[in-house]
Amino acid sequence: MNCLTKTEEAASSQGNTVKVLPEKRAVDRLLAQLDQLAENSDHLFKKSFGEFESNGQGYSMPRYVYLGPKGGGDTIRIGIFAAIHGDEPEGTLALTRLVSVLEKNPELAKGYCLFLYPVCNPTGFEDNTRYSRSGKDLNREFWNGSLEPEVKLLETEIWTHAFDGIINLHTDNTSDGIYGYVSGAVLSENLLEPALREAEQFLPRNAQRQIDGFAAQNGIIAQCLNGVLKAPLNLNRPPFEITLETPQRASLHRQVEAFSIALQTILVEYRYLMAIAQNI
Ligand SMILES: [Zn+2]
Repeated sequence: MNCLTKTEEAASSQGNTVKVLPEKRAVDRLLAQLDQLAENSDHLFKKSFGEFESNGQGYSMPRYVYLGPKGGGDTIRIGIFAAIHGDEPEGTLALTRLVSVLEKNPELAKGYCLFLYPVCNPTGFEDNTRYSRSGKDLNREFWNGSLEPEVKLLETEIWTHAFDGIINLHTDNTSDGIYGYVSGAVLSENLLEPALREAEQFLPRNAQRQIDGFAAQNGIIAQCLNGVLKAPLNLNRPPFEITLETPQRASLHRQVEAFSIALQTILVEYRYLMAIAQNI
């Protein structure tokens, strides 16, 4: 793979001294396994959804769509977003893990169309920073007229697909256990609780009464900061919204498995709740 930036290439081809930049992490490499899964799958499709420039370098926003076997009712659309903080690639790896589980057992995704956004902050991932290269915490920029291209592209996605559910994957380097935030539809909490319970096979739950400055109960926080990635306000039918946070200091393997089982649990539980609702 070509590791030079365009500027470096230009400099070296002109015979100038190349300024050695800190080593950048390659998004392509992080996504290689997902790409391979997509190539061999009848269910998973790679569909990048937008391009933007940062310091003269072009980026595209990766997106994968997993179309499960047809269910009984309307197709349920879920958006799952990872690495909006560039230094949290655990969520990206968890999406790869989830897809490999679904490939072996597509029935888990029966009735679903999953929109997977494995790297919402490509420049931050490359630089291994929470912020994007423009210095913004992208997860504080939603629905407030942000000019950040990643945010505008993601807002369009959220608006266009009118998701039934939005799930954010984050990691927290100050927590010793897994926990989550709920907002949107009231049933979000009924999805997060069983998801955390299953995840406890791999990670302890954060049982503190205060997490990240918020009141928490059994690892569940029912508040959220302004500007986080979520649906726009005042929708007639708001989606369920769940943010999962794994303890970043725990082993990567455990974080990935905890995310994966939590996501599978949410899919199973939501389909079950929708089936009940339709029969009432
Ligand atoms: Zn985060």
